[in-house]
Amino acid sequence: MSDWEVVIGMEVHAQPRTRSKMFCGCAVAPLNSPPNTHVCEICLGLPGVLPVINKAAVEACLKTALALSCEIPLHTKFDRKNYMYPDLPKGYQISQYDLPMSIDGFIEIEGRKVRIRRVHLEEDTGKLIHAGDKLHKAWESFVDLNRAGVPLMEIVSEPDLRSADEARDYAMALRTLLRTIGASEAEMEKGQLRAEPNISVRRAGTKELGVKTELKNINSFRALHRAIEYEVKRQTGVLESGGSVKQETRGWSEAEQRTFPQRSKEGAEDYRYFPEPDLPPLQLDRAWIEELRKSLPELPGARRARLVEQYALPPADAVLIASERQYADLFEAAVKKGAPAKATANWIIGEPSAREISPVYLAELVKLVSDGKINRDQGREVLAETLSSGKAPHVIVSVRGFAQESDSGKLETIVREVISTNPQAVSDYRAGKKQALGALMADLKKKAPQANPKLANELLQKLLSAG
Ligand SMILES: [Zn+2]
Repeated sequence: MSDWEVVIGMEVHAQPRTRSKMFCGCAVAPLNSPPNTHVCEICLGLPGVLPVINKAAVEACLKTALALSCEIPLHTKFDRKNYMYPDLPKGYQISQYDLPMSIDGFIEIEGRKVRIRRVHLEEDTGKLIHAGDKLHKAWESFVDLNRAGVPLMEIVSEPDLRSADEARDYAMALRTLLRTIGASEAEMEKGQLRAEPNISVRRAGTKELGVKTELKNINSFRALHRAIEYEVKRQTGVLESGGSVKQETRGWSEAEQRTFPQRSKEGAEDYRYFPEPDLPPLQLDRAWIEELRKSLPELPGARRARLVEQYALPPADAVLIASERQYADLFEAAVKKGAPAKATANWIIGEPSAREISPVYLAELVKLVSDGKINRDQGREVLAETLSSGKAPHVIVSVRGFAQESDSGKLETIVREVISTNPQAVSDYRAGKKQALGALMADLKKKAPQANPKLANELLQKLLSAG
């Protein structure tokens, strides 16, 4: 493997957050809507109708482009991409060809720049549903056009990615970015984010690109990673046995964990692109673009760096906290309410339900645990009850009598009992095996779950070294 270099470029389709479709007034159908309930003359492709550009989609696309440091050309236009498929009643898709809405950007992944070639707008197609009856050899296909005309942003990278890991990290970084700026909900499982990697391999040290294949129908980050790994192995295998890789589009079978050929890849000339005659070219207002640029929130990369600097968070924690704007907002608000930073990060990362409560309650909970008023297990119970009842953590603690045993006299009785019933661990500890303390603490927790662990630990160590 080591004498092959992997080259990956990626097309990511993201559905901008809009109420209506790209060129008509139809609402974007919620997932699992009955088929063909969100359609009109325009998105059904009936003759004699005129499309109208959705401004919210243009705005989301421009914000995405700006967040990716793209240039926004003065002029942009829409084009017809002609092809025939049953889920495309017009016989063409409105997309952007030679004058996209933005060009030449980049995003940083782990300190490495991945160049963005362009971000443009287009419309989605419908969906085919196949129903089969093997027994009677009867098959039927249905078309659902709810998705036809739904806006899509296409984010095209240069072939700068070098491994399945990088490709997955890139797609995840795009998701974080899109959500942070509010341009898309970017949920892969809802089809709002679709990644299509194109993959080739070449001898390490050579410049010329190998023949690439493009992967379709990938609907999770895990599948993206696996499909690329599979494809790299397949291509190197073909080349090492003296064969040649065929340029084609391949699908990913989740069930069989392999890629399979779908169709030979069309070139741009096959689509006979031409300017969409029913839509005017757009002249983008510079002042509006500057307004959009100023409206962008702090971007994930900058926030990550600031979390490390300002709160002394370990970089790995900062990556997780900054991966969702909601987590980072919650973290900063809770710390502002007096909760210690590292402990707050631990709760947000380690306890998914901690992400659901208000910053005030989270701060209260984190402080109750880090001040030793309740232990971590009790903290989890308090969290669950806060979520279900909406009551403040300190109220739950007092109602449930969670206050920990901190009376030093009572604690000493418990600790002495632990010492007398664990002679082996005690002699191990005194012989210098400090890890024996863990076994003693575990027994203490079993004997007295309500004991304040911090105080009990201190007392245990004191009594052990007193001999
Ligand atoms: Zn419509």
